[in-house]
Amino acid sequence: MKVTDHIKKANGKTLFSFEVIPPQKGKNIQDLYNNIDPLMEFNPPFIDVTTSREEYVYIDKGNGLLDKRITRMRPGTVGICASIMHKYGIDAIPHILCGGFTKEETEYVLVDCHYLGLDNVMALRGDSMKDEPYFKPVEGGNAYASELVQQISNLNQGKYLHDDVLVEHKSDFCIGVAGYPEKHMEAPSLMTDLRRLKEKVDAGADYVVTQMFFDNNKYFEFVKKAKEAGINVPIIPGIKPIAVKRHLQILPQVFKIDLPEDLINAVESCKDNKAVRQVGIEFAIQQSKELKAAGVPFLHYYSMGKSDNIKAIASELF
Ligand code: FAD
Repeated sequence: MKVTDHIKKANGKTLFSFEVIPPQKGKNIQDLYNNIDPLMEFNPPFIDVTTSREEYVYIDKGNGLLDKRITRMRPGTVGICASIMHKYGIDAIPHILCGGFTKEETEYVLVDCHYLGLDNVMALRGDSMKDEPYFKPVEGGNAYASELVQQISNLNQGKYLHDDVLVEHKSDFCIGVAGYPEKHMEAPSLMTDLRRLKEKVDAGADYVVTQMFFDNNKYFEFVKKAKEAGINVPIIPGIKPIAVKRHLQILPQVFKIDLPEDLINAVESCKDNKAVRQVGIEFAIQQSKELKAAGVPFLHYYSMGKSDNIKAIASELF
């Protein structure tokens, strides 16, 4: 079922959802199920499955030299989505990236999603690769998420990249896109970024999931400004509980987001990461309670491969 239909059916009730990361190549999918299983009691209507960008790996050639290769360490997103649907009987949403894919390759992935009966896809640009100063699409690839949304919308209308396709059964994907309450790191201003978000919605996006944030006022302000900018699709808040002290440096550095002083002080005064985890859980519970009281359609959690803290949070809310 489409995310937008889940929202309609819930009739104002806040629902629970979360995002998982595929296991690394060579690992067992059971590790992923072990993280999902404890969260099923909270009845998530859907689970998002991320797609990883390619990264450089260095292969020892045995002669003292290293060979630089590009690889994707966590492939399998669409297959994992199919297995989640099959095993748990709920919707699974693959993240489809511009980065690293030509439009043709993207079309093949979308055809797989259509045949597998996936009703939703999340359209994202992807970040630049670690060694690159800025994002570069591959030749023949989509440069911005809005272009990818347009490609998916075209497919929903039966328009494939080549005109000679006899279309008997169209896809009807519900399309999610990313939004940034504290603006995307490359955007010159929040208003410019909102204009870009509007372009994604105009191209066919049906809902928005936000980047993590720790100050609800930023989310509320973002939703207000988005409405003023003519963005009228649901905006689902994304929540990430702090779990280790290092997050104080990593999260602002990687995601260009601010952390509130009271959270920083509470984390800094913890004697170990067990205490930090508890602080993160309690903060996320308060944050989630306020968002739920404000009537958000979903509370969407970034599990980042761990579900015990998400379970502790969800137990207080759902
Ligand atoms: P876009 O919407 O294309 O925007 C990227 C930047 O370009 C913004 O600064 C925007 O303002 C600007 N821009 C947009 N259009 C134009 C234009 N026409 N001209 C000039 N500038 C423009 N990454 C992954 O690798 N895998 C994942 O699975 C993944 N999942 C995510 C899930 C969520 C909910 C979120 C919030 C992010 C996720 N990301 C993921 C990270 C995401 O790929 C990065 O944040 C990426 O840098 C931007 O992606 P986007 O889709 O927002 O890009």
